[in-house]
Amino acid sequence: MNFGKDSAFWVDLTLCFYDLVITNNAKLGDNPCPNHVDRASLSLGLAFRRYSAYKNKDEVLMKILLVEDAPILRHHLKTQLEAIGNHVYDAENAEMGDYYANQYPIDVAIVDLGLPDMDGLDLVKKFREQGLSFPILILTARGNWQEKVIGLESGADDYVVKPFQQDELWARLNALVRRSAGFIKPQIEAGPYRLDLAKKSLTVAEQEVELTAFEYQILEYLMRNHGQVVSKQQLLDQLYSDSEGDPNVVEVMVSRLRKKMDKDNTIKPINTIRGQGYLFSISCK
Ligand code: CA
Repeated sequence: MNFGKDSAFWVDLTLCFYDLVITNNAKLGDNPCPNHVDRASLSLGLAFRRYSAYKNKDEVLMKILLVEDAPILRHHLKTQLEAIGNHVYDAENAEMGDYYANQYPIDVAIVDLGLPDMDGLDLVKKFREQGLSFPILILTARGNWQEKVIGLESGADDYVVKPFQQDELWARLNALVRRSAGFIKPQIEAGPYRLDLAKKSLTVAEQEVELTAFEYQILEYLMRNHGQVVSKQQLLDQLYSDSEGDPNVVEVMVSRLRKKMDKDNTIKPINTIRGQGYLFSISCK
């Protein structure tokens, strides 16, 4: 039982009934309150999405990059997507989106085409040129088919035309992530190590090695940034999205990873760079 999600479900349901009661009372008088009707249906929708995310264990909880300059839509999408258990990195322009995309292991990106500092299509092209392979869904107010074709040719995987239903967006995001996990089989190879990004598992010389979720996240980040020094803070950010974690946790994880990956201490895949952080020293492909 996930207490966090479970209690959020009851809060939403209670809010929904609270708003319905107010709506009902308001209707009896001469001051109907449409805001409460909206809020009631929003709370009810959130409660049931939470419930279904909780019930369907296969529902993917994703790290989503959202690049959208319209503040209300951005806030609304972030709130809704996080309410059902995802983590959203929200960027108000292309520059910030590019930063997040290179800094964090993104599962799927939502990119608005009309951005203040760069055309969304150019940002999609830039992601692909940088070798970033996460699926991308374009948000566009432009409805004509030529725009959509250009969008898909630039390296996007799907598109949704504004205005859209939240349910449609969520269904499309899930489909994209499942498709990319199922068919592309992304993996990172380095010497005897193979990290399967879909199964989130590690093999050492074809032998599967069991990793905890934290160990996996640290290793994936180190391998994605092979040849570069990664600070403890960067690794902490991978583990704790909003609270400040203890840097000692990173040390413990790295030391456990070293034991699991290099029993005889001969390969030394993860080097400590004094005062700076860690370096995954084997070249990855
Ligand atoms: Ca826009």
